[in-house]
Amino acid sequence: MKVFINPGHDRVYDSGAINPVTGVRECDIVAKAGKLLAGYLQTAGLEVRSLQDDSLALVCSESNEWGADLFVSLHCNAFNTEARGTETYYKSFNGQRLAGFIQSQIIRSVPTIDRGCKTGDLYVLNNTDAVAVLVEMAFIDNMDDLALLEQQLDKIVRAIARGITDYWIA
Ligand SMILES: [Zn+2]
Repeated sequence: MKVFINPGHDRVYDSGAINPVTGVRECDIVAKAGKLLAGYLQTAGLEVRSLQDDSLALVCSESNEWGADLFVSLHCNAFNTEARGTETYYKSFNGQRLAGFIQSQIIRSVPTIDRGCKTGDLYVLNNTDAVAVLVEMAFIDNMDDLALLEQQLDKIVRAIARGITDYWIA
C-alpha cells in the first residue's frame, strides 16, 4: 500500500499558524511529524512518499501520479488561543473510515480533547484520488496543546501510524 504524506504549508513560503508566545511555526512541527510518520510506516512495510510544498496543486498531482492509496495531510490548528483538541477531516466514505481509525488512536494515546472526525471542503481532500484525510493534531496557538505538540509529538505520530495500519488490515 502506498501512503502519500503531506506535511502542511511550506517552510519557506507559508509558515501556517504560529504560536503568539513562543513563535513556534506549524510548518516546522508538521515537517518533523511527517518525517517521523514516514519512518514508522516504512518500518510497517508500507510504501511512502512525502511532500511539503506551498503549491497544493503540485502536492495533489504528485500523489495522484504516483497512484497513492492513502493521502495524509498533517496540520496544527489555531483559533483564539483557548480552543484545544484534535480533529480529523475527510471527504469520502473510506476517508471517514481512515479518519476514524486515526482519530481514535490519537485520543487513546495522548491527553488531548476529542473534537471528532468532520467532513471538510478542503483543497487536498477535493483534489486527491487517494483515500484522503487531514489531521489537525492540536492547536499550536494554545499553550497546553503546544506542550503536547512539542513533548508528545512522537506519541501522536505513532498513533497516526497505527491508525493507518488499522485501516490497512481492516
Ligand atoms: Zn495548517
